[in-house]
Amino acid sequence: MKHFKDINLKLCHSCGTCVSVCPTGSIAMLDGLPKLIKECNGCGLCYESCPGIEFKYPEFNKRIFGTPEADNEIGYYHSICVGQAANEAVHRKGASGGVVTALLLGLLKRGEISGAVVVGMDREHPWIPKVRIATSENAVFEAAKSKYSMVPVNEILGNLDAFKGDLAFVGLPCHIHGMRKLERMGWKNAKKIKYCIGTFCGFNMDRRATDFLIRKARINKEDIESLEYRGGDWPGGFSIKTKDSRRFFVEKHVYNYLNLMFVPRRCLVCPDLTNEFADLSVGDAWNKDLSPGGWSTIAVRTPKGKGLFDCAVKAGDIKVKGSDKSGLKEGHSHLILYKKKGVSIRARLMGLDPDFGIHPPGTDFNERAFNVLFFYLISFMRTRLAIFLFGLLPVRLPGTVGKHVRSIISTVSRSGKNKDSVR
Ligand SMILES: Cc1cc2nc3c(=O)[nH]c(=O)nc-3n(C[C@H](O)[C@H](O)[C@H](O)COP(=O)(O)OP(=O)(O)OC[C@H]3O[C@@H](n4cnc5c(N)ncnc54)[C@H](O)[C@@H]3O)c2cc1C
Repeated sequence: MKHFKDINLKLCHSCGTCVSVCPTGSIAMLDGLPKLIKECNGCGLCYESCPGIEFKYPEFNKRIFGTPEADNEIGYYHSICVGQAANEAVHRKGASGGVVTALLLGLLKRGEISGAVVVGMDREHPWIPKVRIATSENAVFEAAKSKYSMVPVNEILGNLDAFKGDLAFVGLPCHIHGMRKLERMGWKNAKKIKYCIGTFCGFNMDRRATDFLIRKARINKEDIESLEYRGGDWPGGFSIKTKDSRRFFVEKHVYNYLNLMFVPRRCLVCPDLTNEFADLSVGDAWNKDLSPGGWSTIAVRTPKGKGLFDCAVKAGDIKVKGSDKSGLKEGHSHLILYKKKGVSIRARLMGLDPDFGIHPPGTDFNERAFNVLFFYLISFMRTRLAIFLFGLLPVRLPGTVGKHVRSIISTVSRSGKNKDSVR
């Protein structure tokens, strides 16, 4: 039987699943990676549940949706729309439309769940995102907004033994993959998760990105009162308030270039952009035709997700507008080009090949050329030299150039052929 020492840590995406499932508490996350801190009893549960090594799409599509066939770019779905939290305070507090928070608040109010697994900011160290179980409306509200940083969310599933009642679970694709594997194993605490709500994920960054921006702000961590990655009006930006009322703000699309510098290596070979195995997935609606002010794209995937969505609409927790897969694909064309169409190219170039059992979407010459060049750009940006050099420049200089490049890529990728495909 394979166990911890057989896990290829180069494929680890730091989701924390192995920590939660270890019956002897022998694994801990240290510096972002799981390490053995006590003797291992060789039970193999960590290996079996690890979504980093393998996560077979056809098998999980069949298990969750009843069919191995799914859209090659956005996964299996029942329906797609855009929405916003109906409550203005929740809408403003959310990263895009506040839909995730509105759904969780509705579930709590109706008594359908007793808590939600969410990521808030650490109370003592407000520059560190931290997973917690929110059992009150206030705690759910406080945890709204995206934290562009790696958080081993699944670690907390190991602490649910004493928790009474059902939970909703919010996570990135890697977290949901781990959850689904725990569910498949029939692991006790996975049974407490009633709803899996997933957020889209184009890029994530390691902790150095936050430290980089704090350094650029010339603020001591100890002086920070609050830190947000999507603070201010939509789409928001990296925002720090200090205890003595100083403020620092960089628009999201300006600091996006840090994605290239601090994207974890493993994330470069992740093929899941829209959280394809959640009950319901939520992302930003970047579509130009939507009025400004923040909308979420919602992909309803499972019957459970549909039940949750219908209830939220009926209860007036969220308001929605019709959309469809072409709307979603249009809004995310730049990320489909990079994440979905480039994943196998990067896997080959990096010699890192987690087993997803998928055939990537078809690509033409230009798309392949873009992805090879983009890979080499990322490889350069991740070097110490590049990080040092960019550290000398004001964030707004490369950031503004990056913002324009992103917008060109979006326009070009949108005008490309919209290939419809199933795997
Ligand atoms: C790292 C990251 C990358 C993303 N990339 C994209 C992208 O490329 N394209 C896109 O359309 N959308 C992306 N998103 C999703 C997007 O930023 C919003 O989270 C999504 O639109 C939901 O918005 P909302 O207003 O409905 O959610 P909110 O009401 O603001 O709720 C957000 C929820 O996400 C949870 N959360 C926040 N950070 C994390 C985290 N690091 N790990 C796990 N859970 C977390 C919070 O607990 C909260 O419950 C990303 C999110 C993250 C965290």
